[in-house]
Order: sequence, then structure tokens, then C-alpha cells
Amino acid sequence: MASKSLDIVTQPSVELRSVEQWKSDPQIVSKHNPVENDFILRTVIENLNDGVIVTDLHDRVLHVNSRLAKLVGCSASEMIGLPACNFLSLIEGWSFFGSSTDVAMPSGSCEWRECQLRRQDGRQFWAEVNSTPLHDDDRNPIATLITVTDITERKWLEEYLRLLESVVVNANEMVMISQVEDDIDPLELRIIYINEAFVKVTGYAAADVIGRSAELLVGPKTDLEELDRIRIALKNHESAKAELIFHHQDQSYFWADINTVPIRNEHGQVTHFVSVMREVTERKEVEEQLRRNAFHDPLTGLPNRLLFTERLTQVITRSREQENNLFAVLFLDLDRFKVINDSLGHLIGDQLLIAIARRLESCVKRSDLVARFGGDEFTILLDNIQDESSTHQIAERIHLELSHPFNLDGHEIFTTVSIGITLSSTDFKCTEDLLRGADIAMYRAKALGKACHEVFDTEMHDQAMLQMQLENDLRRAVEREEFVVYYQPIVSLTTGRLAGFEALVRWMHPERGIISPGDFIPIAEETGLIVPMGQLILWEACRQISEWQRLYPQHRRLSMSVNLSSRQFSQRGTIELLRDVLKETGLSPACLKLEITETAIMENTESAMDMLLQLKSMGIQLSVDDFGTGYSSLGYLYRFPMDILKIDQSFISRVDTDGEKLELVRTIINLAWNLGMDVIAEGVETTKQLAQLKMLKCEYGQGYLFSKPMSAKNTDIFLTQANPLEHVSQMLPSWP
Ligand code: C2E
Ligand code: MG
Ligand code: MG
Repeated sequence: MASKSLDIVTQPSVELRSVEQWKSDPQIVSKHNPVENDFILRTVIENLNDGVIVTDLHDRVLHVNSRLAKLVGCSASEMIGLPACNFLSLIEGWSFFGSSTDVAMPSGSCEWRECQLRRQDGRQFWAEVNSTPLHDDDRNPIATLITVTDITERKWLEEYLRLLESVVVNANEMVMISQVEDDIDPLELRIIYINEAFVKVTGYAAADVIGRSAELLVGPKTDLEELDRIRIALKNHESAKAELIFHHQDQSYFWADINTVPIRNEHGQVTHFVSVMREVTERKEVEEQLRRNAFHDPLTGLPNRLLFTERLTQVITRSREQENNLFAVLFLDLDRFKVINDSLGHLIGDQLLIAIARRLESCVKRSDLVARFGGDEFTILLDNIQDESSTHQIAERIHLELSHPFNLDGHEIFTTVSIGITLSSTDFKCTEDLLRGADIAMYRAKALGKACHEVFDTEMHDQAMLQMQLENDLRRAVEREEFVVYYQPIVSLTTGRLAGFEALVRWMHPERGIISPGDFIPIAEETGLIVPMGQLILWEACRQISEWQRLYPQHRRLSMSVNLSSRQFSQRGTIELLRDVLKETGLSPACLKLEITETAIMENTESAMDMLLQLKSMGIQLSVDDFGTGYSSLGYLYRFPMDILKIDQSFISRVDTDGEKLELVRTIINLAWNLGMDVIAEGVETTKQLAQLKMLKCEYGQGYLFSKPMSAKNTDIFLTQANPLEHVSQMLPSWP
């Protein structure tokens, strides 16, 4: 039975009833019925979420509710009458219950504290403990009411948050939290939190940032397109990752790796965005450097072949989608770069390439691409051109721009360029074809005299195919020895006698018949096939003349002139080869004349002198072939030990009609004499030319007038004649 005084109570847990239920209980008499009040109180206490314990002045348990019993891990009946500290004690060792009344007594007030409690079974939990002294009507203390609330979970949560906060505060990454507001652009949302790292990296103080938006980091270098991508993702409440340039407070920039995630509340609504950013400037700069190295030419700073072909591929793809998109590829090759490099040195050569790169850039739009393709080759991609004529205009502009001399290190350098062009309207499918077309057109421009430009057409394509076929055939021809040597007489213009022969190669093509050297020597040079081919010719020509000298004693002093190409001239084993040939064939070196063009000498200026001196020391004679068609730098005639000068047929062919040419030939002959050289006139075709040359006292002549180049068999017949050049003396009665 319940009583008003708070005696020891052993009340089992009571069900919570409605007031109506209480009122209908026959035991409850009225609203002011003490019994009723007591019941209500007990029920409330019993149903509290907090544990409740009432102790007497000796700390003995008078009453506990079931929540407290549960917290302690005992039943209420086990606890009643025993000291409360038997069941619950403070971790710090201090008995809360034993001293509660003492503590509460003086002021008569209650005490509240958060503490860790230990249960009888040793288990601990965090609690909020409230102790209130209870008094009788005379204000004498009679008991203590203690409520115990289990706050373990809250404490754990607080701890967890504290740890999290310290992670965020001390993180190396920048953290920024902004608060979502309706109808406000995600990038304009108010920032409500930034951490230390943010302050450190951006230079902004927290006070400068809180309340403002992330747009304060955006500056002129920020990629606005990328920023828009982030904006759209955040608008859709998706997370967004990006690498962006942001600006410090002092407006200098930094690269940030940024990851922004939306934070949702329990209703799934996005309330905040948390952005975690890492400064990655160093990595980006290294990446950029590597990218630059991979895609740019270190000397000129221009894009390289790789970048050019990549861009060209993109443009080709785009032009397939947009029909009227016209573009052009220009392939440029400097005309005399090797000579400049060899004569003035590589440093000047490099400076020239850099200077040319800058001039080329100045000739095109910013959206066009100028690249260094390799060596002295440049390529230009002209995008979005109007028509073919605008490409011509740019090519003209380039020629004009390069026509002004370059002043490099005190040298005034003139250079020209040959340009090949392919237009996108050509029926080309891929990058390689477009480039190859431009390359072929460039070679055509070179062949047409250099310093000009040519647009690729299908005829060039066919020719290129033919060239390729020829190249393949030529390889086989070397293996199958399809070459034969023809011989063209060289005649003394003073005696009218045969002085020797020039060996001229012919290719006996199995399907195409005889092919002239002009059609395959350049390919043989380019492919290196000239080396084995040259060896064959040298062996055969020397063997043949040696044989004729033996067979026909009247011709025992005949000489043999053999052409030496630039490639052979610079080839290491040439000297050894010549030694072997002379030894094996028994030919006197004095009867061997090597013909070298001015170009071959100029292309090998460094090794030329050494090579020429070695040949001289072997007793071999040296001729300058095609004089007047090469670099016309007379200086080398003084420097190099040449014996014979062969005046090119382009001078001789007009010596009888063109007074100026006649004077020029006279000057050349005088110059040769002054240098102690003999002169041979090439390409003598008419008696008039012969008469002029005799008048000029030119020593030797070679040409169709005397004889066309002949096969070995025909030459043999020619040699057996008593006077093979009789027909010439008939044409020229004054012949001695
Ligand atoms: P080249 O050494 O100047 O040879 C003279 C060329 O002029 C020969 O042409 C010859 O047939 C031609 N010719 C001679 N007299 C006359 C004439 O009166 N009128 C005209 N129109 N032409 C005349 P070919 O045989 O076609 O050789 C052309 C060039 O090919 C040679 O010019 C030479 O540079 C090169 N070549 C020929 N054979 C060889 C060779 O065995 N080795 C090397 N490396 N080059 C060779
Ligand atoms: Mg020759
Ligand atoms: Mg010649």
C-alpha cells in the first residue's frame, strides 16, 4: 500500500494509465486524494526515461525506478535498503551517494554533474547525475532524490565530433563548407566554414571568407568552362571533382584539386556543400613541363611533329562533320640550310632556325599552327581558310618575310624556303596522306628551282607512286646488277685526238628499257643505293679502260673519268675501295679522273679537304663537274686541290649565240689557267660551238658532236678505227 511518507517501497513497475483510467479505478476517490496523487507520481517516476533513486540520510536506497534498476543491472528489490554505493560508484573513486546530502545540505540546493559511473558488474557508462535534497515540512533533510541519465551515446557523439573537428581543422587539405540557400547559384552560396589550410594556402583570413562565396577564388586564369561543369553538377546535387586554377588573395594563382560533395539532412535535402581542396601546383607544373617537352621542339619552342599530327588528325575529324571546313597543310624545307650549318657552324644554324620560327609565326593567324617537323623542315596548319587563294597569299607572305636577311652574330644570312601545300579539298583520307602530299609538293617546288611553293595535285601523286615503284625496282636492280656503263669520248681540242672517256651509267630496266641516270641517281643518292652501285661502276670502268689500254697500245694513255656522288665522296671506305680497284685492275692512278660536283664538295666542306688531299696523294686526278651550276663560290677553287674544271653544258650550249655567255666562258677558262687547271667543255654539240671553244683555247671538249655515250661494245669498235674522230676534223678544216 502506498503512503505519503517516502518509506521503503517495493513497488513493482506500474503500467502507464490514462487519467480516465485512474479516475475509474475504485481505489481512487478524488482529485485531491493523496493516494491518487501518490499513484500518479509513482507512475510518472516509473515511466521516466531517467533513472531515479531515492536514498535516506545514510545513503540507503529507499526507492528506485525500473530505468535506474536497468542502468545498474539489478532489480529494484535487490537494491532497497542497501547502500547506493554498492550498486553505483564514481570512476574517480569519489562516492557520490555517500556525500550527497553533505554537499547538498549547506545551501539546500541541488547538485548536477556529468560523470562516469561504474555498475556493480564493473561496466562503466557516462551519466548526468542530479541530486536534490528532500526535506520534511520543517525543512529538515529526510532523503536525497538522485536522477541518473545515461549520456554515453551523447558523450561518444561529442567525442567523435571533437575528433572529426580536429581532423578537419588540422588537415593539410583545404576544407570549405557552404550553406545551401534556395534559388542561389551553387558557386555563390555563403561560405560558413574554412579550415587552417585554407587560410594558409589562399592567404585569406577566415573573416575575409566567411559569409562570402567561393567566387572570391576565381580569377583571370580560372577555366570558366570547367567551373561551369562544377556548377551544373552541384545544381543537380551531384558531387563534382575538378582540377582548377584558383587565385590567392594577392591574385597570384595556384592549381587546386577540388572535390565538392553535397551534404543531406535526415529528410534527404541538400543543406551544405563540403569542398575538400588540395594544392597541386607543383605537380601540375611538372606535368605541364613534361607535356611541353613531349609536344614541343626544345630549340624553337614550336609544337613538334607529334603535336602537329595530333592537331591535324583533330581537324580532319572535325572537317568530316562540318562540310564547308577548308584547311591546308604547308610543308616547308629550307633551301640551303646544310650549307649555312656547315659553313657558319651549328650555333648559327640553331639561331637561324629560331629566327625563322618566329618569322613563320608572324605570317599566320594565332589559331593556325606552326610546327618544327624536324631538321630544317617546318609544317603549318592553316585552319578555316576561305579558298585556295588565301593559302597562296600566306605562302607569298612567308617568301617575302624570309627574303629579308637575318643578322646573326655579325653574319648577314639570306635564306629561302620551298613550300609544298595540300588542301583539304584533295581527296585525302588521313593525316599521313595529307602530310605526304605536302612533302611531295615541296619536292616539286625544290625541283622547280626552290624558293617557291607548289600545291599538290593528282599528277604529283601518280609521279610519286612511280617514284616509289622506281625505288623498289632500284633495290632489286642493284642485287641483279642491271646497270651497264656507257662511255663518252673526251677529245683534245688542240690535237683532235681522243684523250679519254667519261663513264656514264645506264640502267637496263627489264620492263622500261634504258633509264638515264638523271632519273635514278637522285633516288639512289637518297636511299644510299648509290654506294653499292658506285662501286660496281668504278670497278667496271677501271677494268674496262685498263683492258683497252692493253688491247690498243695506241690508246695506252687514255684516261677514264668516273663520277663520284656526294654520298660516295663522304663515304668512309671510298679511299680503300679506290686502292683495291687500282691494284686489282692494274690501272695507273694518273689515268683515273674522279668527277665531283661543286655541290658535293660544299656539302662536305669539313671532310672534303682531307678526302681530296688523300686522293691527290694517291696520284688520282680530280675534276670539278658541272662548273657554274652549283654554289658558284669561287673561293673553294682556290682552296681545294682540283686539276680539271668541266664547264657545264648550259654555258657551252649558248656560247655560239650569246655574247655574254661567251665572255663568261672566257673568264672561266682564264680563271682555271690561273689556278693551273685544265678545262673541259661539256655538251659540245655544234661545229660553231667547237670553233668558239678553240678560239678561246679551251683544251678539251666532250659532247654529241664528237660522240654520244656508247656501250662498251660500241666503244670497242670505236677504238679499233684508225681515226675515230675523223668526222670532226672534216667538219672543221682548220683542225691541225
Ligand atoms: P655529267 O657527269 O655532267 O655527265 C654528262 C652528261 O651530259 C651525261 O648525261 C651525258 O650523256 C650528257 N651529255 C654529254 N654530251 C652532251 C651533249 O652534247 N648534249 C647533251 N644534251 N648532253 C650531253 P647522262 O649520262 O644522262 O648523265 C647525267 C648525269 O648523271 C651525269 O652528268 C652525272 O652527274 C650523273 N651520272 C652519270 N653516270 C654516273 C655514275 O656512274 N655515277 C654517278 N655518281 N653519277 C653519274
Ligand atoms: Mg660527269
Ligand atoms: Mg657534267
